[in-house]
Amino acid sequence: MKCDKCGCDVPKSNDAVWIQSYATEQPISLLVFGSRCFLPTDTCPGSPSRAQYIAGQPRDSRYPYDKSMEKKWRMAYKRILKICAAPAEEPA
Ligand SMILES: [Zn+2]
Repeated sequence: MKCDKCGCDVPKSNDAVWIQSYATEQPISLLVFGSRCFLPTDTCPGSPSRAQYIAGQPRDSRYPYDKSMEKKWRMAYKRILKICAAPAEEPA
């Protein structure tokens, strides 16, 4: 799937929509949304409103930080990395 922001191919390991579907346990979002880079890349700002929950990422001032979602996002991201067998760069 291509990112709706930058138009590049989004690897599943960095697809905000996939990660969100795990974080919120709402697989339906996969059908509603396309793809969107999660963490910023060289060519794309990514999705800071979601990536802010991952350790080391800057807070997104446009959205409130929901502390109760932090664990869910981190778990979801971990899970995606595992599924994709991406380089082991797990958030602390
Ligand atoms: Zn993108």
